[in-house]
Amino acid sequence: MDLRVLGGLIRSSGFYRQKAARLKGFSAYVLIRHPEGIRKWFSVTPLEELRDELLKINGIGPETADSMILYAGGRPKFVVDAYTHRIFGRLGLVSGTYAGLQSAFERALPPDHRVYNEYHALIVALGKDCCRKTRPLCGKCPLKSMCAVP
Ligand code: SF4
Repeated sequence: MDLRVLGGLIRSSGFYRQKAARLKGFSAYVLIRHPEGIRKWFSVTPLEELRDELLKINGIGPETADSMILYAGGRPKFVVDAYTHRIFGRLGLVSGTYAGLQSAFERALPPDHRVYNEYHALIVALGKDCCRKTRPLCGKCPLKSMCAVP
């Protein structure tokens, strides 16, 4: 597909030109390295091996790799994003590096992709609705009784 057409289709995601080029690069990688298809590649490869391979592809960092594994692959890899850092840092429960936070969640939760999926969605919802970057809306936050900020 022409890059401009692809970019137009994903324009609403932001940084669409850069993302379009990376999507094209990723598609070419899959066609060459995984002729068995992405579904099979994602389902049969040992999880950490799959993650290591994804991280070697241009434009794929830990959050993207883990999102692909969790949402596209349906496999249990906890996604840590800016909302996770912000909310759990403010709560004083966990903070630190991406790997540190991920490991804390994966130790505490059952290794079930549906749980990770829902948990991450709830974190995103709380980050958007209440725990904003500036002037968080603590008054309506369901976690305010356990948070040191308000
Ligand atoms: S009480 Fe405020 S700072 Fe604490 S988690 Fe909720 S919105 Fe964020």
